[in-house]
Amino acid sequence: MSHTLSRRVLLGGAAAGLAAPAIAQQKAAARLVIVGGGFGGATAARYARIHHPEMEVTLIEPKTRFITCPYGNLILDGKRQLGQISFNYDGLRKRGVKVAQASATGIDAAAKRVRLDKGAAVAYDRLIVSPGIAIRWGALEGYTEALSATIPHAWIPNDGTQIMTLRRQLEAMENGGVVGFALPENPFRCPPGPYERISLVASYLKKHKPRSKILALDAKETFSKQGLFQDGWKALYGDMIEWVPGNKDGRVARVEADRTLVTEFGTRHKVAVANVIPPQYAAAIARESGLVDKSGWVPVDPRSFEAKAAPGVYVVGDATNGAPLPKSGFVASNTAKHAVACAVASLKGEAPPAGLYFNTCYSHVGDDYGISVVGVYRPSETAFVEVPNSGGVSPRGDLPEQRKLESGYADGWYASIAKDMFS
Ligand SMILES: Cc1cc2nc3c(=O)[nH]c(=O)nc-3n(C[C@H](O)[C@H](O)[C@H](O)COP(=O)(O)OP(=O)(O)OC[C@H]3O[C@@H](n4cnc5c(N)ncnc54)[C@H](O)[C@@H]3O)c2cc1C
Repeated sequence: MSHTLSRRVLLGGAAAGLAAPAIAQQKAAARLVIVGGGFGGATAARYARIHHPEMEVTLIEPKTRFITCPYGNLILDGKRQLGQISFNYDGLRKRGVKVAQASATGIDAAAKRVRLDKGAAVAYDRLIVSPGIAIRWGALEGYTEALSATIPHAWIPNDGTQIMTLRRQLEAMENGGVVGFALPENPFRCPPGPYERISLVASYLKKHKPRSKILALDAKETFSKQGLFQDGWKALYGDMIEWVPGNKDGRVARVEADRTLVTEFGTRHKVAVANVIPPQYAAAIARESGLVDKSGWVPVDPRSFEAKAAPGVYVVGDATNGAPLPKSGFVASNTAKHAVACAVASLKGEAPPAGLYFNTCYSHVGDDYGISVVGVYRPSETAFVEVPNSGGVSPRGDLPEQRKLESGYADGWYASIAKDMFS
């Protein structure tokens, strides 16, 4: 058989048996449709075109410009501007990806169709969905979408307004003010992300408003790379940062419009600038198409990322219920490549190829100060399993050269993953 992946081959025996349109079918390319042009979706589109140029690849994404969450925190201490973390889809178009600038409003897995907000529908042979997260409005009392205009979450970039609001509020704050954070329970997008943000806010304050303080109220008792972050905070910022765990009255139960964060035991913290990172779940398209379970996240087959609720639909990225895989851009990206391979294998009637998944996540703690975590995971039939002794975190101790190197590695990681998505 030729390597050409025609729809006739891909649709298997049943389609091949239809005599009349057989020739037409032989020539029709297999249709891979992808919902969401972020870390998972853009990578899937790019790799599908690189490895299977005979396939028709359509990417459905409403935005013309994708702003990355990674490196968004660096805007807060002025190391990056919005334009440096924004990308368009021209590179993917040049590779032959058809970009449909629209929102998917429903998935009909039985009919193999995705409905779009503009009224049309797109038919697929296999579908990859990587729509990211949504904020669980209503889960944290008082924190509404309207209030997020003045008390930003800055956890979904959209057009960049949220992170720029936070930046401007820091600029407007008086020297000596308190910046308050409300941090969520697991699972949420980017486990080390809030602590990198605290670090970079501290970096900004140290340079511009050194009498200020940070109060980080956390629903959890522990967090990602905790020892490394706390070592860095002490070394770089002295006693500027107070982190309060959930069991010491750190759990914020209500947010009030005047920037008062109220804990579960009723302690009231009125702060000058507040950043609330609220509870999250899978983006609307995953929830409204019946892909999620009661956790609000999408359960998938760990070997292929095929959604448990929808054969032929592969879900990757933050929307999945993939613990212990962290919700990171790096995981979304490499599991998206695997999902493409699995979708193609399934079109050929083959079993999914063996999976091995990776996470590498760098965090900036301050100038020339980077730390990282690495994890390697294998699928069993029913779960994602961390490969014993495979990963780890940066060494602790007074290691300025190591921190400087990792800060440079982080920049290299960002430049290369951005290319791997959009070029
Ligand atoms: C502050 C911060 C820092 C971070 N730093 C890092 C880091 O250093 N390293 C790292 O690996 N990860 C990092 N992350 C995590 C990373 O951003 C996410 O894990 C990653 O974006 C997940 O990819 P995704 O494809 O699931 O979702 P996204 O990248 O969010 O992409 C989802 C896309 O789907 C689109 N979409 C949604 N609904 C629809 C629909 N109905 N129809 C069509 N399109 C739709 C959206 O517009 C969006 O473009 C960070 C996150 C934050 C918040």
